Amino acid sequence: TRPFDPYTVKRDFPILQEKVHGKPLVWLDNAATTQKPQSVIDRISYFYEHENSNIHRAAHDLAARATDAYEVARQKTARFLNAGSERDIIFVRGATEGINLVAKAWGGRNVKEGDEIVITWLEHHANIVPWQQLCGATGAKLRVAPVDNTGQVILEEYERLLGPRTRIVAMPQVSNALGTIVPVQEMTAIAHRYGACVLVDGAQSVSHMPVDVQTIDCDFFVFSGHKVFGPTGIGVVYGKPDVLAHMPPWQGGGNMIADVTFEKTIYQPPPNRFEAGTGNIADAVGLGAAIDYVESIGREIIDRYEHELLVYATEKMLTVPGLTMIGTAKDKASVLSFVLDGCRSEDVGKALNQEGIAVRAGHHCAQPILRRFGVETTVRPSLAFYNTKDDVDLLVATLHRIQAGRVKR
Ligand code: PMP
Repeated sequence: TRPFDPYTVKRDFPILQEKVHGKPLVWLDNAATTQKPQSVIDRISYFYEHENSNIHRAAHDLAARATDAYEVARQKTARFLNAGSERDIIFVRGATEGINLVAKAWGGRNVKEGDEIVITWLEHHANIVPWQQLCGATGAKLRVAPVDNTGQVILEEYERLLGPRTRIVAMPQVSNALGTIVPVQEMTAIAHRYGACVLVDGAQSVSHMPVDVQTIDCDFFVFSGHKVFGPTGIGVVYGKPDVLAHMPPWQGGGNMIADVTFEKTIYQPPPNRFEAGTGNIADAVGLGAAIDYVESIGREIIDRYEHELLVYATEKMLTVPGLTMIGTAKDKASVLSFVLDGCRSEDVGKALNQEGIAVRAGHHCAQPILRRFGVETTVRPSLAFYNTKDDVDLLVATLHRIQAGRVKR
């Protein structure tokens, strides 16, 4: 590992040299997607220039290269999450597809009428809708663990929702709308005491902090490649080996079978059983390169640096007249959701864009939690390790100017 300097790592990302409205781009929309270092872009090009093939090792040389590259990416992903084996790693399209896979395949087999599914108020729509659909299909009930006024899950209330009918608990490790870091390890242990299975939505955590699925002890963990400096269209489901062993496939087709006759199909063991058809080989390889990049910095270092920057940004933003932070939990990562008195979030977003600052303004695909705080939308800057105090200072200075009416909105 090299000594950490955000100004140096920023130069690894070609797009961060772009100009917007003649101003240097300040990318503060990392919770929506992250930018890609040159090494990831190069790795994907290299794949198409030298390795591209479908993956069926025995056929010819390029098939062996493509298969090796894909499987090395799976090994890197396993190490990244501290999974026990690369066989616990399933490649999917993203966190959304991962949650749908678990809801359809695991849920279809294990959830029955009268059973209960527990989620939290913090959920992204991707961790609500598939469970609602499962409830609709089975007659199970969806129960929602409330949060306190800081946006943290109330553990006693959460535990009160659990019971003998709870089949699965799904929770985010970090909230995309508020930035709350949820105590997933503790909540998993509680769920397991009731015999429930646990899915952790790591879409907003893996790029900001070390993640160890064996320590969390969750049964499933999902994330998206594009939020961890990798390509779009690739994501990951980690599943405990004994859980995956008993989970039926959700899609059928090539790759996932051991033998097919018209009478009967014998499936492959995990993970192939869950990867029907030709996968996103090149982008899995790109994700492997993104993981290498993140690990070359180190997630402890990223975690420490970003925490410092988050504290700095929070203090400075509170100097803006009429600014209210939405989500003030003690443990937060990356996200700085806020509303500005007298300004529509969309207008603040547009005014920031005029200055080259990219943030999300809207409901962030998490309407229930925003409504819990009495708002429909917020402005949401979100940090990554390539953001600097200069980025934060420019954001805050621009917010001051917006409030003073000196920036058109
Ligand atoms: N969960 C959370 C917490 C998220 O922030 C997101 C993306 N905003 C998702 C799930 C869905 O990820 P994707 O759109 O990449 O499938």
